[in-house]
Amino acid sequence: MATHYRQACDYLTQLTQARSIETLTHDLAAKSIAPAAKVPGGARISAEAIDRRWQLLDASDQARANLLDAQTEAQMQRYERNIENFIGTVKLPIGIAGPLRVNGLFAQGDYYVPLATTEAALVASYSRGAQLISEVGGCTAMLLNEGVSRAPGFAFRNLEEVGKFMLWAIAQQTAFKQIAESTTRHGKLTDMRITVEGNHVYLDFQFTTGDAAGQNMVTIATQAVCDYIRAESPIAPQYAFVEANLSGDKKASAQSFLSVRGKKVTAEVTLPAELVKKRLRSTPEQMVNYWRMSAIGGTLAGTIGVQGHYANGLAALFIACGQDAACVAESAIGVTRFEVTETGALYAAVTLPNLIVGTVGGGTSLPSQQACLEILGLAGAGHAKAFAEVCAALLLSGELSIIGAMCSDEFARAHQRLARGRKAESSAGEQP
Ligand code: NAP
Repeated sequence: MATHYRQACDYLTQLTQARSIETLTHDLAAKSIAPAAKVPGGARISAEAIDRRWQLLDASDQARANLLDAQTEAQMQRYERNIENFIGTVKLPIGIAGPLRVNGLFAQGDYYVPLATTEAALVASYSRGAQLISEVGGCTAMLLNEGVSRAPGFAFRNLEEVGKFMLWAIAQQTAFKQIAESTTRHGKLTDMRITVEGNHVYLDFQFTTGDAAGQNMVTIATQAVCDYIRAESPIAPQYAFVEANLSGDKKASAQSFLSVRGKKVTAEVTLPAELVKKRLRSTPEQMVNYWRMSAIGGTLAGTIGVQGHYANGLAALFIACGQDAACVAESAIGVTRFEVTETGALYAAVTLPNLIVGTVGGGTSLPSQQACLEILGLAGAGHAKAFAEVCAALLLSGELSIIGAMCSDEFARAHQRLARGRKAESSAGEQP
């Protein structure tokens, strides 16, 4: 978090030229005047509560109409379990990438993938990669592992207490499982990992969560186990928390990278050299040269894993399909690998160990989000595993397209054309 001396000097000079030290001191000090009116709170959605909130805001009628349009008003009750202090909905453009052929253990067929973004060139790029994959018969995709965890923490006086607590906790596996699973029909407690650090104990409870992403499910189940521990443990913890930040929830972590958080998925494709030349204006050798240099670049920058831009496609797909967009923080890590095969073709693979996705629960049944899952044919129960494989296939499309753009030197030009200039007539060659 260091700042270079020169930058610090320039910034401070700019600030003190624009405002005197006295003004800056005043601006930064806490103000004793009464705060503005509180937002009328509540999860219950009613026209009257929405109106009261809008009256607080210094916003034009047009701003209100943009956020609270007739359709949103008509469907407002559907948002009740997903938002508090509701005032409307934000509209994002949705584009379709594809077709994306996936030959998966669970995803089968040609998918048109809805992507919600305000970044020009993103959909064009993913679409180009998807079409390339489909042209060779599709990518192979495999769900490899599943698991979502909650990690409560318990503080004791000393290691002797820690030892006694662990002896008891280890003997409670059946009880923990029965208590956790009494809170959910679909959540299953599959494992418990124990971490001791001094007089602190972290119990990392691992669940499968059916077709739901599962963060609420595992929180509720783990809370029930914590309540049991507080009531029954022969050694009472001095204090305990339902989540002690060891689960990796909503942050990229080496731990999740090395195991699984959500769904672990891999996808691969082999592209003949002629196709790489025709569609990406490059060669397998040059694609591998770029991949190798970017892998080292990522290592030098200290990234977790090796990949180009998983967050681009994942954020757009998550927003479109009612996934928790904040989970991109943990989901968008993994490994991309490119190789030249013995026959001179390009082998490309992506592996993502932390896809936190669901087709039930969370935001998946909101009107627009459900429509996007319907476009994929993956709305509702029975589709979470296929959805995870489609995610991996989409990200493989994006890696092929962006590396192609880097190799053919079209990366900047495509952005210039699509984001700053006229719209291109064809999507070929357009990059994120
Ligand atoms: P949820 O909407 O809270 O729960 C899923 C619901 O769907 C459960 O009631 C479950 O019932 C039911 N369900 C019906 N059919 C199912 C099926 N086939 N498979 C699985 N469940 C099925 O969603 P969640 O996935 O547990 O949690 C995701 C949400 O948690 C996201 O909105 C995310 O933003 C939020 N979140 C919460 C935390 C937290 O710590 N609380 C942290 C991060 C994110 P049963 O439980 O009876 O099976």
